Amino acid sequence: MTTTQSDDTYTIDEGRAIDTVMRLLSVPGVSCREKQVAEAIVEMLADAGVPDDAMRFDNAHKKSPFGGECGNLIVNLPGSSNQPRRMLVAHIDTVPICAEAEPVRREDYIEPAGETGLGADNRSGVGAVLTAALEVVTRGLPHPPLTFLFTVQEEIGLVGARFVDKRYIGKPELVFNWDGNAPDCLEIGATGGYHIDIDVTGIPSHAGGQPEQGVSAAMIAALAMADLQENGWFGLVMKDGVRGTSNIGVIRGGEATNVVLDRLHLEGECRSFCKSLRKRIADVYRQAFERAARSLVTSEGEHGSIEFNCQKKYEAFKLPKKSPCVNEAVRVLDKLDLNPALEYSNGGLDANWLVERGLNTVTLGAGTVNAHTIGEKLDIPKFLTACRVAVGLATGR
Ligand SMILES: [Zn+2]
Repeated sequence: MTTTQSDDTYTIDEGRAIDTVMRLLSVPGVSCREKQVAEAIVEMLADAGVPDDAMRFDNAHKKSPFGGECGNLIVNLPGSSNQPRRMLVAHIDTVPICAEAEPVRREDYIEPAGETGLGADNRSGVGAVLTAALEVVTRGLPHPPLTFLFTVQEEIGLVGARFVDKRYIGKPELVFNWDGNAPDCLEIGATGGYHIDIDVTGIPSHAGGQPEQGVSAAMIAALAMADLQENGWFGLVMKDGVRGTSNIGVIRGGEATNVVLDRLHLEGECRSFCKSLRKRIADVYRQAFERAARSLVTSEGEHGSIEFNCQKKYEAFKLPKKSPCVNEAVRVLDKLDLNPALEYSNGGLDANWLVERGLNTVTLGAGTVNAHTIGEKLDIPKFLTACRVAVGLATGR
């Protein structure tokens, strides 16, 4: 770390940073139920001296198809200088396996006490952003105008970022998001994704008495999926040197073994940086299911049908490597003697929607290990580095 006596900006209160993230990790807040964690953030900022009227919630949850307890929490601080506004972002929701998490510290890690996830995704990011806010406020560090954006419902499709009320965030020119592992890894692009819903309708009949008079919805789906697998459209999809992925993650249907299954609901997704490949995967899925539905007929010559729906979850993006937010992140990492690595993410990030809404955003890690699994933990040294990076990006020092 490069600090001099004349500039101790990067010397943070490490004990407070760890206490902050421990507190955040101990508050439940799965997607759509983020109120309690948002209130904990408001309380910590208020205790540090942030005035009530600097903190507000938008109505993102009212625009969300999933509802939810609260919108995004937005905190605005006037600058001590007239530089362009900066915005620091982290999503505050966690995935369901983190609902009962109880954090315990074990040497250099924070781990869940029981068989749960931890919620380091993304309380580590929230902890880094909040630590930057607390450092700036309590130490009176000089800083440009600042916005802190704590988004909801990231894990269920980047919903908070998609519907953030831009009137409340004050036109930031540099945007930094924390959600990941390595504090020196800069995600400057991310894949785009579609959600796929397929309802398969077969023809019911008695499976023992007159099976030939029925068409199984399960068999339609099986034939379609076998076709996709055989032709390289399932899982990792490589077409003409372009990479994509596809998956069916939900299959629901059926109640009795003696009925030829007449209804099946499937949900899946496809992803690619390349929009035309993404579209092509979805089209191929539709065609495979339609073909399979036509191929199975009853003794009367009837066949089943499908209803196919495909919706954009988020568009892909790639920032120019010399974007102002990327340059600034590289500058701060250099200052901390870290080696910035520029990467592209195969998962969606809040940045996907922020970029689509005109806010170029670079995403950094904050020490999360094994996100979305029982083995999830927080790497404390990486988290503290992320906190220092966040302070640098908040202050521009
Ligand atoms: Zn996350």
